Amino acid sequence: MTNPAAVPNENSSGPPIQKETTAGNYFVANYPPFAFWKKEAVPEFLAALDRPPVTNYEYRITNPLGLYTHIPFCRKRCHFCYFKVYTDKDSAQIRAYIDAVLRELTAYAGKPCISGRRPKFIYFGGGTPSYLSPDQLKFLTDGMKALLPWDEAEEVTFEAEPGTLTDHKLKAIRDLGVTRLSLGIEHFDDHILEINGRAHRSKEIARAYAYAREIGFPQINIDLIAGMVEETEEKWKDTVAKAVELRPDSVTIYQMEVPYNTGIYQQMKSEGKLVAPVADWETKRRWVNYAYGEFEKIGYTVTSTTTVVRDPAQVKFVYRQGLFSGADVLSVGVASFGHLNGVHYQNHHDFQPYLDAVNAGQLPVYRAYVVPRDEHYLREFMLQLKLGSVSANAFAQKFGADPRVQFAAPLASLKEQGFLTNGGDRIGLTRDGLLQVDRLLQQFFKPEHKTGRYA
Ligand code: SF4
Repeated sequence: MTNPAAVPNENSSGPPIQKETTAGNYFVANYPPFAFWKKEAVPEFLAALDRPPVTNYEYRITNPLGLYTHIPFCRKRCHFCYFKVYTDKDSAQIRAYIDAVLRELTAYAGKPCISGRRPKFIYFGGGTPSYLSPDQLKFLTDGMKALLPWDEAEEVTFEAEPGTLTDHKLKAIRDLGVTRLSLGIEHFDDHILEINGRAHRSKEIARAYAYAREIGFPQINIDLIAGMVEETEEKWKDTVAKAVELRPDSVTIYQMEVPYNTGIYQQMKSEGKLVAPVADWETKRRWVNYAYGEFEKIGYTVTSTTTVVRDPAQVKFVYRQGLFSGADVLSVGVASFGHLNGVHYQNHHDFQPYLDAVNAGQLPVYRAYVVPRDEHYLREFMLQLKLGSVSANAFAQKFGADPRVQFAAPLASLKEQGFLTNGGDRIGLTRDGLLQVDRLLQQFFKPEHKTGRYA
């Protein structure tokens, strides 16, 4: 086969190391960046749905199906939130939304690309999926299971905000077949939670966590954020100690970023400030590293730039693994984005246009991107590097091109800067490299996809 990999960037030096936290997106969540997905490509996405699933797409050997469902409701909008969330919808509007999600899923279930397939992984994200009542959740998931049975799903992940979780609701969530409860704790200090606009408090965390453990969720993940507004060395250490005490199955730690559509940025703008009122990047990396160190002391393993895991043999992230290695991800709900038969797509961002499209019998897709073969390679390489290392041989086997050759220049540059480990087959990042991998990934972007600043 011909070589699918992109020509590496001639200019191998990465973007300058930024010290202060200024406004903008930091994380590389996909490739190419969303700004390159266009309305004009939607007909090609619709055509791809009419083809059977790609099972041997030249270099793509396996092609499992995952399902993502977006629940855009929250009790309150956090000041750092950059998602499209709704805090004002009544039960009739929520019911209309659930009906629309099921209608959207029905339309996909009949397409040749999806028909007869069974999802290997399922993810409920938001927003706050746990904002829904037990009855609403049952209605939604019964409808989903009737369309695409869950009997082959290896993992069902459900994001939850601690303050929305009564014992009754936790039990109902467990009964749906959820295997990983992902608790959006973010911090244990009530003042930090309050000043950052979170709806829950530490008491609710303790109660929800204890009951979730008691009723036996196979896995509990907790989310933390390093560098929230008014974070201090002492408070961060205290939060890490409390997280360690809980012994969760895994912990996801994000470094605070301040995208333009957040409350924090609006405040910065009104005050004419360019630097966000949060810790600089070096401090945030140090705090995350401190947390990883504390967990490593009790036997946990760092398994990605954002994750530390108690037992890697038991705790898998099937969703992330699928997403990072080219799986089909059927995403439904407002603003959700997915990938089917080689095409990225994203739904309408706003509630009413989403509902209107679905209710008019259309798929509510707003923009799409047909991923050329070289960008599949780039995308998977970059996303997998966020896990800490990539097997060059496995990549060469899958794509017919060795990343050590393809990316010789940027890899040499990373090595020179001390971000790469020595490793033969494994192209691995040092801890320092792993903690700033999103910034470093810019070096692998095609020149036309460089946005000048992060993702
Ligand atoms: S709970 Fe999550 S999705 Fe909801 S407003 Fe806060 S950060 Fe955004």
